Amino acid sequence: MSTTLEQTLVAAPEVRQTQMLIGGKWCDSVSGKTFQTVNPATEEVIADVAEGDAADIDLAAKAARKALENGPWSRMDARDRGRLINKLADLLEDNFDELSALETLDNGKPISDARAADLPLVIDCLRYYAGWADKIHGETIPVRGNYFTYTRREPVGVCGQIIPWNFPMLMTAWKWGPALAAGCTIVMKPAEQTPLTCLRMAELAQEAGIPDGVINVVPGFGPTAGAAAVKHPGIDKIAFTGEHLTAQIIMADAAQTLKRLTFELGGKSPNVIFNDADLEAAVAGTEFGLFFNQGQCCCAGSRVFVQESIRDEFIERIVSRAAERKLGNPFDTSTAQGPQIDQTQLDKILSYIDKGREAGAACLTGGNRFGDKGYFVEPTIFADVTDDMDIAKNEIFGPVMSILSFKDESEIIERANNTFYGLAAAVWTRDVGKAHRYAKSVRAGTVWVNCYDVFDAGAPFGGFKMSGIGRELGAAALNNYTELKTVTMSLD
Ligand code: ADP
Repeated sequence: MSTTLEQTLVAAPEVRQTQMLIGGKWCDSVSGKTFQTVNPATEEVIADVAEGDAADIDLAAKAARKALENGPWSRMDARDRGRLINKLADLLEDNFDELSALETLDNGKPISDARAADLPLVIDCLRYYAGWADKIHGETIPVRGNYFTYTRREPVGVCGQIIPWNFPMLMTAWKWGPALAAGCTIVMKPAEQTPLTCLRMAELAQEAGIPDGVINVVPGFGPTAGAAAVKHPGIDKIAFTGEHLTAQIIMADAAQTLKRLTFELGGKSPNVIFNDADLEAAVAGTEFGLFFNQGQCCCAGSRVFVQESIRDEFIERIVSRAAERKLGNPFDTSTAQGPQIDQTQLDKILSYIDKGREAGAACLTGGNRFGDKGYFVEPTIFADVTDDMDIAKNEIFGPVMSILSFKDESEIIERANNTFYGLAAAVWTRDVGKAHRYAKSVRAGTVWVNCYDVFDAGAPFGGFKMSGIGRELGAAALNNYTELKTVTMSLD
């Protein structure tokens, strides 16, 4: 994929912000504690970051409430809210090089990916929602009797937003965009592995003129800061992206305050290649669909179903592409694959590789840690995988592809749907009818036909089954951030 890119070393950026933002003030945590954020490519500490817990979340929730109810945000015209979101997008664009390098430093993703995917999608997302700010409105409803009934869409209130480490800036934009457009205020908890770009985005939000207290950012750990946000009675809604096991804890913790919840969770997405597909396109799309972002994508196409008659040729081509992927320094513009996020993920991925071997799957390339510094894993492909193997059932969240084969269309829907996940699915075929039959029957929130990982701010994204509740992006996400109010007036 990126092997043809010219090799240039991009300089690591300066880390400008490590405190937390509460009510417009940058501050240390109440406890004075900090935690380390680590460069996954070198295992070296980048910075000590303020570590928030329940006390800081409480301050942030109060600041967000004040901004929601009393501050300039609550009186601002919707169109002006849109203008501020656009201004933030402009500032992100002005600081494109710094932000993409900071994402690479903290997350380990190749700089070429941060530049080609993360930053453009972040900016686009904010501009898309800036446009929505003055277009969120209710309806007039014909009712029986002499009454005038209309609905209003009001901000849901103070929103707790908890995000993972795989796309730190993009997940921030997906959360902030619709929340700000709807007029909500925010208590944000970035992932403990990758707090830096969210903090820098919050600085730029201040510079854009988004009023104090509208965006509060409390870095810290899940069971402390995250759980405190989930339980806080002054927070109206939680938007969470992460593992389904964490979502189950959040759902239980949120029961006491009956918070509105939206979840975007994991997946084990089926990627089906029929024998009438454009094979070269399918191979390239399958490589991208699994190995992009080091395999750390909730929608990774990790179950690759290949029709028997093209199996051998497909495998030969995909294995040679995987083996050619360039691993190494993510600041090198020719690098295609950086490190995994941390030691925990590295260990988890290697243990799945062991399980694959033990279960009798054929490891055709990779299968090992790469180097001895940094959390790198070789691009790995297993063939002869069967539906019941661990590597075919569980989310690995790493560069490990499982290839399964199938005879014909009649068996594929049942096998594709044989998972408790339902985030994404793909199909490769030149037969339009076959493509639509698959798109209709597969239980997934997103279906890609002859493509993979095509994202757009306007296209809703989210999961069926245990892959989530609610949809992010598009007009659909605005529903997560508004309450519907019905007003009925007597005309007598
Ligand atoms: P991952 O495996 O991607 O780290 P997690 O679901 O563990 O996925 O984490 C995603 C986010 O959820 C992180 O910001 C993490 O700190 C947070 N988190 C983890 N546990 C909890 C919890 N009990 N309550 C609230 N947030 C949590």
